[in-house]
Amino acid sequence: MNLNKKFGGGENFSLWDMLMNGKQLSFSDRITVFSRFTSELTANQQNFYMRQVTSAADREVEIIDPFTNRKKRMLMFGSNNYLGLANHPYVREQVKKAIDKFGVGIGGPPLLNGYTNQYRELEEQLASLKQAEDSLLFSSGYAANVGLVSALINQGDKVLYDEYSHASFCDGLRMAKADAISFKHNDMKELETLLHQKNNSSEDIFVGVEGVYSMDGDLAPLNKVTSLCKKNKAILMVDDAHGTGVLGETGSGTAEHFGVEDMVDITMGTFSKTFGVSGGFVSASKPIINYLRYFARSHMFSASLPPVVIAAVLAGLEVIKKEPELIKKLDENAKYASVGLKKIGININPQSAILALRVPETMNIREAAYHFHKTGIFVNSIEYPAVPLNQQRFRISLMATHTKDDIDYLLSVTEEVWAFYNKEINLKAC
Ligand code: PMP
Repeated sequence: MNLNKKFGGGENFSLWDMLMNGKQLSFSDRITVFSRFTSELTANQQNFYMRQVTSAADREVEIIDPFTNRKKRMLMFGSNNYLGLANHPYVREQVKKAIDKFGVGIGGPPLLNGYTNQYRELEEQLASLKQAEDSLLFSSGYAANVGLVSALINQGDKVLYDEYSHASFCDGLRMAKADAISFKHNDMKELETLLHQKNNSSEDIFVGVEGVYSMDGDLAPLNKVTSLCKKNKAILMVDDAHGTGVLGETGSGTAEHFGVEDMVDITMGTFSKTFGVSGGFVSASKPIINYLRYFARSHMFSASLPPVVIAAVLAGLEVIKKEPELIKKLDENAKYASVGLKKIGININPQSAILALRVPETMNIREAAYHFHKTGIFVNSIEYPAVPLNQQRFRISLMATHTKDDIDYLLSVTEEVWAFYNKEINLKAC
């Protein structure tokens, strides 16, 4: 099992490994070292984490600027609220109604007192969205992955998974004590070779991929993955956290985008991206879901999602159906941004609403990040040592609610950043 190998991308890294390079420290030394690290970042105007947002999550947000302590409006290009559902008027209205009817909480897990008719309705709606027989809800996408993987996979079962798989999938593998082997990101040749090696044994083989990879915004080639899995009798699990609600004609997700809905065995999704709230789910055949109801410990031993969250997701599903123009607008916005980026010399072929701007090695990413912040653009930077130096990036997420003016402003600031902070370009200009 190579879960501890050096991190090269994706959303699975150990912050401590990155900072300390394997150094063993006592508990109090670890706390001290980390406190010093975060205070130095803030003192040097380099801490872009935990910016306090004081408004609703929308295309524009108000934050408390950590560097001036004053309120500041920023255009939000760092959120997974792709369709703007987090502050959609219909969703807000339905959530208010749910509060009036059910109150705010539930007070227990689904197996005991937390299984309401509203909860069942959401399970059914998600099953229909994913064209599966049934679905199961979790308190987060993280809990869904950990619960799914640790419940279905037995110690010693073979698991082949993309090296960029999310931390929650990898943590599930650790709990399952699976015999897990990662293959190079989206490398179908390597997956095929590994499947052939494993195919000689009688053991179950599971394959894990993501529909949309969260750090680069690229898709798993599900047309190829599904046919390899079928050929080799492997059970396919797709984490569609970032594809659900936005990919495919009806927003069913990445499998719909590739037209292979009936070839995916198990899909996992979250409510923390397109649906703008929190929670997660798994869709699969009835027997698999029934099994998970009793064996996925993060489901069984955790309280049900509150009625307000369920109401928000149900309302979000309605909006996705009634306003198909939102998915189209998101797609148009991603294309418009990528055409603009090309004009300023940044080539991106958008496959989703996530655009990863690779930062040249000659650019100081922290200075560049401060420029984005100062000029009112909220983006996330992914830095060395979380990724190798040549893979540092700004991760831009488009929303359907962004206007052309918003994107034009993003482009003009990006152009400034690329001109001011890329030393190679400056030297050539001198
Ligand atoms: N899988 C992927 C691919 C993700 O990007 C995330 C969130 N970053 C998760 C799972 C976990 O989802 P949640 O935020 O709902 O816990």
